[in-house]
Amino acid sequence: MKRLENKVAIITGAGSGMGEATAILFGNEGASVVCMDIKNADRTASQIVKAGGNALAVAGDVSESEDWENVLNAALANFGHVDILCNIAGIAEATNVVDSSEEQFERVINVNLKGVMLGMKIIVPEFIKNGGGKIVNMASLSAHCGLMGLPNYTASKGAVLALTRQVAMDYAKNNIQVNSVSPGLIDTPMNAGSTPEMLASYKAAIPQGELGRPEDVAYAVLFLSSGEANYITGQDLLVDGGWCAH
Ligand code: NAD
Repeated sequence: MKRLENKVAIITGAGSGMGEATAILFGNEGASVVCMDIKNADRTASQIVKAGGNALAVAGDVSESEDWENVLNAALANFGHVDILCNIAGIAEATNVVDSSEEQFERVINVNLKGVMLGMKIIVPEFIKNGGGKIVNMASLSAHCGLMGLPNYTASKGAVLALTRQVAMDYAKNNIQVNSVSPGLIDTPMNAGSTPEMLASYKAAIPQGELGRPEDVAYAVLFLSSGEANYITGQDLLVDGGWCAH
């Protein structure tokens, strides 16, 4: 039996990187996948369908509540229910607290924090109706320790950890498990701008000596989204090659 048989999952950021890898893995594990992204959601959904799975693409911005209503309505119209929400969409902008504009701060907070909050706000009532559900939010190593030049991003991810714990407490009695995953440095388009020198210095800081693959993170999201994690809530799972333990 596949690990997500008969489950319906909404995955944000499904057009690229870890969201894409998670959506494809979920499709392989039997879930019907609703791929939400501002771009390329249709590309991921067609890959899943080509491989024999069920998927639907919905173009949407996680920081807009109407887009969340659309995603939920599309999921219900096509698949009848929703069991899993994975909030993976995110953006990062290098700056420092002095140079950052207020607009930059708001942009990052809107996607990385408000987007996670809105997803839970719109989908949790559906989970309550259905008798339970699973939520996995994407945090970051930067929520645990400082990284150079990412203050807005780091603030947003620290808040995702706190919000995850809080929502886990508020809905534990409703059989809704809410956890987060904190990737270290993962080889995705988000890091495409890194110079060879930057990559070499990151690798030197990572005990396992390499960047992670999107699939390494997707498997952690799969575990926390599956029935194997029914008694785990309010937790964060670091997937970082040992970086934070160092
Ligand atoms: P990525 O850039 O490859 O993918 C991010 C996806 O999010 C893109 O498809 C993008 O279109 C989508 N997106 C951006 N803004 C959106 C919005 N407003 N609404 C809907 N979709 C939107 O990045 P990734 O590396 O796969 O990152 C996935 C998540 O993991 C992010 O939350 C990121 O902060 C987090 N993360 C990444 C790393 C890393 O090293 N790559 C490390 C720690 C955490």
